[in-house]
Amino acid sequence: MTNTTQNALATKIGRRSFLKMAAVAGAFGATSSFASRNVTRAATQDEVKNPFPGSKKVRTICTACSVGCGITAEVQNGVWVRQEVAQDHPVSLGGHCCKGADMIDMVRSEVRLKYPMVKEGGQWKRISWETAFTRISKKLTSLREKSGPDSTIFLGSAKMSTEQAYYFRKFAAFYGTNNIDHQARI
Ligand code: SF4
Repeated sequence: MTNTTQNALATKIGRRSFLKMAAVAGAFGATSSFASRNVTRAATQDEVKNPFPGSKKVRTICTACSVGCGITAEVQNGVWVRQEVAQDHPVSLGGHCCKGADMIDMVRSEVRLKYPMVKEGGQWKRISWETAFTRISKKLTSLREKSGPDSTIFLGSAKMSTEQAYYFRKFAAFYGTNNIDHQARI
């Protein structure tokens, strides 16, 4: 693959995803004729210049912590398709940590969890929100009755926004425990 083609693809699909794909393709290419099967093509000049026709750039912030680093989100037909660091943001000054640099994966990741799942008989299966809420609330109530609220620990997510972390903290407190961690360091 030429450097021009690599740059065009990286621009179109996002540099991080491109690097992952390149690593997989590199490993695959070592043992196959992948590169010679014409499964890729050079991007046209128009695609290189404008990979998302009609898109708009929207200034926003990363929600993963209270620093609020600036992001320039590119949106096409209502879908977030690409992100860049907002170089002129007054707080982050063009910097991001690794969470903010990949914030777009919050919405476009193919492994993103979109609905409640439960593992039964070794298999994951989808359940309704109603079922999930009922099961969790029954379990939490039973744990508190049998062993007290401190028999539990609430673990948040590094992908929670600052506001979600606030609600999560409140929820643990109302349940009756201080055993909570936000997991922001992951
Ligand atoms: S998580 Fe990282 S990129 Fe996002 S606001 Fe905090 S420091 Fe900035």
